[in-house]
Amino acid sequence: MKRIAVLTSGGDAPGMNAAIRAVTRVAIYHGLDVVGIRRGYEGLLDGDAIPLTQSSVGGIIHHGGTILRTARSERFKRSEGVTEGLARLKGMDVDALIVIGGEGSFRGAWELEKRGLPTVGVPGTIDNDCAGTDETIGYDTAVNTALEAVKKLRDTASSHDRLFIIEVMGRNSGFIALQVALAGGAECALLPEVPFDVEKVCQKLNYAKKRGKTHSLIIVAEGVMSAQELAGKILDTGGYESRITVLGHIQRGGSPTAFDAVLGSRLGAHAVEALLEGKSGVMAGVTCGQVTTCPLPETWENKKRPDLSLLELLNALSI
Ligand code: ATP
Repeated sequence: MKRIAVLTSGGDAPGMNAAIRAVTRVAIYHGLDVVGIRRGYEGLLDGDAIPLTQSSVGGIIHHGGTILRTARSERFKRSEGVTEGLARLKGMDVDALIVIGGEGSFRGAWELEKRGLPTVGVPGTIDNDCAGTDETIGYDTAVNTALEAVKKLRDTASSHDRLFIIEVMGRNSGFIALQVALAGGAECALLPEVPFDVEKVCQKLNYAKKRGKTHSLIIVAEGVMSAQELAGKILDTGGYESRITVLGHIQRGGSPTAFDAVLGSRLGAHAVEALLEGKSGVMAGVTCGQVTTCPLPETWENKKRPDLSLLELLNALSI
């Protein structure tokens, strides 16, 4: 193995730059050349690549987003797209590829692996919905960004005796909603993994009102429904008026927390080490504090769910 490539794919996540930096520097330390593919698989199909050096990844560890940029590529999802991507990599004399992204990106990586290109994944997604690692790169930063907003909204909610509904990211997973609700002292967290029951939400609000509580916070993951729709249901069923806030893409941005900068560095380095040990078709992760690898298909076959005992804790703490 003489030359490896690295790309970021899917949604951007704070800490991806720390991972790119670690991949580059550890690979160069071991005598490898490194090529950065820009705009994920879409850029790969366009041959959009740059050499990465120790200095070209300098000063990026604390920057949000990804210096390689990212994209979603419909072209690469087709079999001809994968064949073309493989040909592009061969044309660049690339011997192995590191893909930083989420579950979808790993499916793409697995297609390349199956066709003979050694490929290793690094979990970079704010959703934390990737099996094979306790946390994904970007999740901790996204939770802390959302929490800052929740703390501000809590001030105004308590001053005006209001119910606030705050919509956070999570199309298919409720990790962010649950963590933010617990850390932010919310009354309710609505997660895609748990069937929605408006009666239960209203019962909770009734109970809080009876015991003299004048303000409440509900955190809803976007995958459950929009904050707007939820506000309508709560008004129709319980008669509660609410104010809504949609945090949106602000949760993706910003400088990574120390946790994400370290996680990105550890997993980027571990991905290169895995390749050097002859491992491929795997994802680098951290389990119980230790760096690990797991087969790429396990990252999407074993659906990772939030710990629902934390939802019970939230209920117990908010009565
Ligand atoms: P996030 O969790 O942030 O959404 P992700 O990696 O899951 O990140 P996706 O949009 O699901 O994001 O996937 C990123 C890209 O991976 C897709 O746009 C596509 O190019 C590629 N991809 C996804 N599934 C496949 C597949 N089955 N075969 C080939 N490529 C795929």
